[in-house]
Amino acid sequence: MDQIKIDNLEVYAYHGVFPEETRDGQIFQIDAVLYTDLRPAGEADELTLSTHYGEVCHFINRFLRENTYMLIEAAAENLTRELLLAFPRIERIELELKKPHAPIELPFENVSVRIERGWKQVYLGIGSNLGKRQELIEQAIMKLAKHKLIKDVKCSKIISTEPYGDTALYEFLNGAIELKTLMTPHKLLEFLHQIEAEAGRERKVHWGPRTLDLDILFYEDFVSNDPVLTVPHPDMENRLFVLEPLNELCPWYFNPVTGKSVRQMLRELKEAEAASETEEAQKQEELIKHEEE
Ligand code: ADP
Ligand code: MG
Repeated sequence: MDQIKIDNLEVYAYHGVFPEETRDGQIFQIDAVLYTDLRPAGEADELTLSTHYGEVCHFINRFLRENTYMLIEAAAENLTRELLLAFPRIERIELELKKPHAPIELPFENVSVRIERGWKQVYLGIGSNLGKRQELIEQAIMKLAKHKLIKDVKCSKIISTEPYGDTALYEFLNGAIELKTLMTPHKLLEFLHQIEAEAGRERKVHWGPRTLDLDILFYEDFVSNDPVLTVPHPDMENRLFVLEPLNELCPWYFNPVTGKSVRQMLRELKEAEAASETEEAQKQEELIKHEEE
């Protein structure tokens, strides 16, 4: 991806653990690489289609002067988040925050922290088979869209599906959601649990009736095998009601573990289901023949 680079921007600010640092201040230096598509601005020669690097520099200066952190880690973390929120064309930032006069009583040139943060593309599954299902789904989507650290929310068609598992009684409504977020996978999961709880979700029976179910299907190419958060979602490839809506949003997105695209998973599942139906029909036919004999 294209980049805008800022080298060694100097800011006088007040971050540090020692009282004299927050009282007297010192010089900080910033290197930043802003990842963004520069082609539209390049082709049109039009500043409004790019990110104004002057504004970015002044934003960094103001942010670092007006806020005080003990750690440069915290200053860098908060600064990159606010930059990504303030300049929507920037997709990812690499930022190095240097403290050349840090109170270390030894000769050194510089100390710094370097972090990389950006918007992550995420796909969620959403489902409900209890209560005001359509309304609960719409409310959940609204809550997602309203969160400060979430943007560009898109939803597939909501489809109606037969109950899944033995314990579910009512028809499910299911859909898939695409969004971008600055939250980590675990923070996002926490937020999804909060939305589920607000919808009156009680975790009693696995696969039982539920007012709202929100699952993380993909979080970019992040892979996690931990039971609290398994990503990509392990049951995705066995569930038509997940793959069908997902295929509407991102047919070519692929599972980083199996290398299969959504479209391919959907085709294979449909083929497997058709084959098992044929097998079932043949068994029935043979059974009838036997009885006749
Ligand atoms: P399911 O969605 O499989 O029907 P639940 O919604 O009851 O089941 O989720 C049970 C647990 O699954 C949750 O407490 C959550 O921590 C865990 N979990 C693991 N991976 C994921 C994921 N990718 N998305 C959502 N929950 C997950
Ligand atoms: Mg779930």
